Amino acid sequence: MSALNLEQVTKRFGETDVLNGINLDVSPGEFVVCVGPSGCGKSTLLRIVAGLEDHTSGHVRIGGSLVDTTPPASRGIAMVFQSYALYPHLNVADNMSLALKRERVGREEIMRRVKAAADMLALGPLLKRRPAALSGGQRQRVAIGRAIVRQPKLFLFDEPLSNLDAELRVNTRVELANLHRTLGATMLYVTHDQIEAMTLADKIVVLNGGKVQQIGSPSDLYDRPVNRFVAGFIGSPK
Ligand code: ADP
Ligand code: MG
Repeated sequence: MSALNLEQVTKRFGETDVLNGINLDVSPGEFVVCVGPSGCGKSTLLRIVAGLEDHTSGHVRIGGSLVDTTPPASRGIAMVFQSYALYPHLNVADNMSLALKRERVGREEIMRRVKAAADMLALGPLLKRRPAALSGGQRQRVAIGRAIVRQPKLFLFDEPLSNLDAELRVNTRVELANLHRTLGATMLYVTHDQIEAMTLADKIVVLNGGKVQQIGSPSDLYDRPVNRFVAGFIGSPK
């Protein structure tokens, strides 16, 4: 059974088809990176999977279940945003616990999960700090930790590294790859950065103009691009 399946998903804003008949199948445990230039519809696609945006037509299935009308909180997903989206008035531990409290997870279980995620992300010494007292890289690790504690069936990442400086971006990328190995989780990750796509992905989806250009392994795309767009986009670093 697939972890995520998109069938002919279309999104129209006004007169514009931002997404045009997207088909995608993600297997359990797969790290899928959707890559494409700015404005090609990556965030819209993730928001549709998360249930934060309605699609115009087509179907979204998570773990085999149709979720076209399922509210975000019931989809078994957790999303990490480029902007971190932490609560400024809550410390790190409370930021990580909030969704679990809402889901009525018990206190001890919450503490156990927060500690495990904090260990994984080297956040232990920072649990009592507020976001304002953290660096950008630390904030992003908290945002990732907040997703981990929810034990989602599917992680969604929207350009999680793009606000970090170059060195931190590489370090966090390695952390994400390790995390994927450790958790064995299914991940759908969008970025405009070809290097991120090539280094993180089991499978890459190249999106342009609201359409899937090609789906394949990094070496498939590099060695056998189906068109000039994919060849130019994957072949030539920015
Ligand atoms: P990406 O994340 O790849 O940069 P987006 O998914 O954010 O692209 O946007 C894709 C296109 O959809 C853009 O042209 C953007 O202007 C348009 N768009 C996104 N959200 C809305 C909206 N709420 N209303 C109208 N147009 C939108
Ligand atoms: Mg975007």
